[in-house]
Amino acid sequence: MPELPEVEALRLGLKKVLVNATIRKISVSRAKIVSSSGTTRVDNPQKVQDFITIPLGQKIISLTRRAKNIMINLSGGGLFLVHLKMTGQLVFVALTGEQTTGGHPIQNQDLPNKHTYIIFELDNGTLYYNDVRQFGYVLYYPDSQTLLDTGHFDNLGIEPLSSDFTLEDFESRISQKTGVLKTVLLDQSVVVGCGNIYCDEVCFASGVLPMRKCNTLTKPEIKKLYDEIKRILPLAVEQGGSSVANYLLADGSRGNYAHYHLVYGKKGKPCAVCGRPLSSLKITGRTTVFCEHCQK
Ligand SMILES: [Zn+2]
Repeated sequence: MPELPEVEALRLGLKKVLVNATIRKISVSRAKIVSSSGTTRVDNPQKVQDFITIPLGQKIISLTRRAKNIMINLSGGGLFLVHLKMTGQLVFVALTGEQTTGGHPIQNQDLPNKHTYIIFELDNGTLYYNDVRQFGYVLYYPDSQTLLDTGHFDNLGIEPLSSDFTLEDFESRISQKTGVLKTVLLDQSVVVGCGNIYCDEVCFASGVLPMRKCNTLTKPEIKKLYDEIKRILPLAVEQGGSSVANYLLADGSRGNYAHYHLVYGKKGKPCAVCGRPLSSLKITGRTTVFCEHCQK
């Protein structure tokens, strides 16, 4: 599963090639990918029909993001909501032959192939949606309010890359939680975008143990966590994400942020600060790595 920095890096890559393109034709070969209600799978012929007809002739005006959802916004006011889930992949092939790939890393394949479920023919090239396990989805909404009304974005916390992410807001959201720090960060209701990798990295860089109860965190500890989220996530976007979970960048290469990991996937290795072996335990079913000496 890609984390937020990977999705943001993909959005930035696709934005360069998709904005201002006009949609000429859309084909769909698996109804559930475009007609489900999020992960609730339903085949809805009317939704498929709307999906392949309404956007025709419209221009893509922008690509935006909320948590790990990418929105492809159209000139007619409608939009596509894309969630790649585990194995979704977007591949844009320009008329010049140049390829822009993001998501699951199957490369050097024919296009379309047996995992291609949606084809968008644009005036400057073709965008393919491939999905080996078909957990992802691409949904059309006539406007953003209709999307909001579905509740798809309910219970999502603040965007850590936005200016709305302030220390005061973070503090008020986190200090009242009685849960364990890592669990609270993972559940996305305080701040979106901290998956397994970035939770461990943020906790380590902040010197706070991931199994601490949130309501025992001191003000300076909350400030340190806030500062590290603000430092680490943008750095990871800049590096194109970590690509540990089989994730590729828009240009088809793997992200570089993995080189910067200090604790994730390093159980038993020496701590970068004190040299003692890193410890590990499961929190909310996720392997969590930390330094018992450097984190309090
Ligand atoms: Zn240490």
